[in-house]
Parts: sequence; structure tokens; C-alpha cells
Amino acid sequence: MMAHPDDAEFHCGGTLLRLIEAGWQVHIVSATAGQCGTMTHSPQEIAAIRLNEARAAAAVIGAIYHCLDQFDGMLMYDRPTLQLCVDLFRRLSPALVITHHPMDYHTDHETICRLARTASFLYPCPNCSTLPLSPRATVPYLYYADPNEGVDIFGKRVEPTVYVDISAKLQLVTRMLLCHQSQAQWLRDHHHVDAFEQAMAEHARWRGSECGVEAAEAFVQHRGHAYPREDVLAAMFTV
Ligand SMILES: [Zn+2]
Repeated sequence: MMAHPDDAEFHCGGTLLRLIEAGWQVHIVSATAGQCGTMTHSPQEIAAIRLNEARAAAAVIGAIYHCLDQFDGMLMYDRPTLQLCVDLFRRLSPALVITHHPMDYHTDHETICRLARTASFLYPCPNCSTLPLSPRATVPYLYYADPNEGVDIFGKRVEPTVYVDISAKLQLVTRMLLCHQSQAQWLRDHHHVDAFEQAMAEHARWRGSECGVEAAEAFVQHRGHAYPREDVLAAMFTV
């Protein structure tokens, strides 16, 4: 559960692919349609473009894409938005949730992180939604993906609790990222990033060098009270 239509691919695409190969059903959720990721299109035009790009990227690995239709850059932690997240979890009954790190460069990332954390805790409670409660609903494993550049908002390196080897998945993750063609120009104009697929691969190689593989994605597991503490990603994909 991420903020923008290309975030899942960029931060955890290789791990999603490994989960699918291990037999998991994967849903990719973005809170917004990325309406501000453009210098030229109207909000409606770019939202339509980016939703199509996100669906195409999810289809590359056989995942299912959902959008919460919030406005890019203005994601709120409030009751209506939290209810949307809880209701989506009621429909999906996730056993494992990956979201942004609590401290990341974009406040939408931090806000969806908090929404995903609360929805994870709340959705198995009967009274939080009018939607049916599945018998398999339970507080899911919760992981925070690496923030951009692997640093928090103070520039301090984030210490991962688990690495997932994605060396053999870089090509497919690149294919997913290249579905987001509207963002290639935007990132050049606004973020001064020449090629986001190269930025993803460089980041994965840096994290890979820390754990002795060619490329890896790094995560921090939420291990607070009531959340499962067993490291299910490490158990499946130990580097
Ligand atoms: Zn983002």
C-alpha cells in the first residue's frame, strides 16, 4: 500500500514478484492517482494516464491494482481516508502489508504509512466497517520499504531488518517501471533524475552490496504490540 502509482514498483517490485512466484496473490494499492506528477497535463488527464500505467505495470507480474483516488500531495490522515483503507482491507484480508517507511522524503509516503499501519491493526475488529469480516482476517505482517535513497528525512541511513535478494528480478522490475512513461519526463523536469529505472537498480545494487548479493530490496519490520513479530520475509527469502 503506497502513495503514488509508481511507488510499489520502485520500492518493492522485486519482492512482490518473489511473493507471486511463491504462490501469493499480490494487490498493489496507491492512495493517489499522482495528479501532480506533470508539468503539462490537467489533473484529470494525468490521473487517467497514470492509472493506465499502474494497471499495465501490475499486469507485468500478475498483480491486481487498486487506487484510493485521493489527491496527490494532499493525502490526509483523517477518518474518511482511514475508512477507505479499512474497507479495502476488509475486502482483501491481507496477511502481509508493505508500505512506505514512516520517515520518507514525501509526506504522502509518511501519511499512507500511518494509514496502512492503523488499517492493519483495525480491520479485523468487527465494528470498524460495515463490510463482512472474513474468518481469515488477522493483523497482518507489516513491513516498511526503504525510503528514497535509503535515508530518513534527516539524511540518516535507515538500518534494514531484512533484505530480499532481487538479483534475478531486476529486468522484470525495470519492465514494470518503464510502464510509467509519463513519469520519465516529470522526474527529469522536477526531480532531476535522468532514468528512474537506473535509480532503482543502483539503489538495489547498493542494498545488495550490504548483504552480499547483486541486488536487494531492504525493509524494516513493524514489531510493535499486537503485530506479528515473526519475520516472514526472512523465513521465505533469507539472503
Ligand atoms: Zn511516491
